Amino acid sequence: TGGIDWARVRADFPLLERQVHGKPLVYLDSANTGQKPGAVIEAVDDFYRRHNANVSRAVHALGTEATEAYEGARDKLARFLNVRGDELVLCSGTTFALNLVAYSWALPRLQPGDAIVLTRMEHHANIVPWQLVAQRTGAVIKVAELDDRGELDLAQLYGLLTPEVKVLAITHVSNVLGTVNPVREICRQARKRGIVTVVDGSQAAPHRALDIAAIGCDFYAITGHKMAGPTGTGALWARREHLDAMPPFLGGGEMIKEVRFEGTVFNDAPHKFEAGTPNIAGFIGLGAAVDYLSSIGMANIEAREQELLTYATQALSTIDGLRILGTPREKAAVISFLVEGAHAHDLATLLDLEGVAIRSGHHCAHPLMHHFGVPATCRASLAFYNTFDEVDAFVAAIHKVRRLLG
Ligand code: PMP
Repeated sequence: TGGIDWARVRADFPLLERQVHGKPLVYLDSANTGQKPGAVIEAVDDFYRRHNANVSRAVHALGTEATEAYEGARDKLARFLNVRGDELVLCSGTTFALNLVAYSWALPRLQPGDAIVLTRMEHHANIVPWQLVAQRTGAVIKVAELDDRGELDLAQLYGLLTPEVKVLAITHVSNVLGTVNPVREICRQARKRGIVTVVDGSQAAPHRALDIAAIGCDFYAITGHKMAGPTGTGALWARREHLDAMPPFLGGGEMIKEVRFEGTVFNDAPHKFEAGTPNIAGFIGLGAAVDYLSSIGMANIEAREQELLTYATQALSTIDGLRILGTPREKAAVISFLVEGAHAHDLATLLDLEGVAIRSGHHCAHPLMHHFGVPATCRASLAFYNTFDEVDAFVAAIHKVRRLLG
């Protein structure tokens, strides 16, 4: 993988040195949130120690530095995603980004009889905002289903794209199964039919080189904390024509040009959607995260994670009674599994005592759990900073826990 010294990369992450319950930490929950390299922690620290001021309002030196650093982070992120900076709305994360699309784009447009298409593998963040909009507009929601592999049934999906469909909202990568959806082709099909497309890129941006312009969608949402950045950072990319046509979502300072009691002139996008003081330090940290990921190279990160995924999948398949959910042909390094005779939460709790952090539960994807007929799964998610030894420790811990559970 590109001659990268992965041991040195791992050493960039101070938290991974720690122990839990007296055992070395094996962190396999990066799909939930990613760990942060020193460069990101230092960028946030440096901002508060040396540059802290509000953005845009002050003419003093610190104010200028803060504004330049914040806008610099937007530009870094835009380059990373291959989009224009003036089409990138900075916000608290994917949840905010998707709500922004739902409330500012969809709510004023949808009417009774219109339809929204979602897929069964969506995170609740890409379901609930659409339900709220559907309730208020009289639009209906239609669902694209999955096949046995945990891939979208594309024929059924395209069959749903009838004239009353106004918007298709779909995840790029499933946070539960790791399924990588062919979003480029799906967006092409939707666009041909005049349907606006919204892509949830939360689980894609951390793991692969992204070229949003090439996907051909209308909206693309990301969250910073899963891509080595601070919590409370994220972005919505949207085509300029949509941003210009959308009314503001939140009102306040920063998002205006002029306020009079007779009426207010809004700022241009993306600032029109960034009311109030933003998470300045967080975005400076996210800029550092993007620099960090780029210094390793997203192609190298993807290749490394694929090696870890293959290794972990093989190791897990030697465990009797362990079932991996979903076998998509293109898959990110996320493994959902169940072990016969062990509740997901019990397994995760006992693994924690061995130092192994995995997630158990519904992963904010109830409809997907219903598809598999289970209330919960265990999920191990790998990142480029994990090691093959950690996978071994994880597998050994499962064996130990199974013996404990009898
Ligand atoms: N969509 C997907 C696919 C996710 O995995 C997540 C994070 N669990 C979200 C949306 C929501 O992201 P956030 O909570 O950072 O807004």
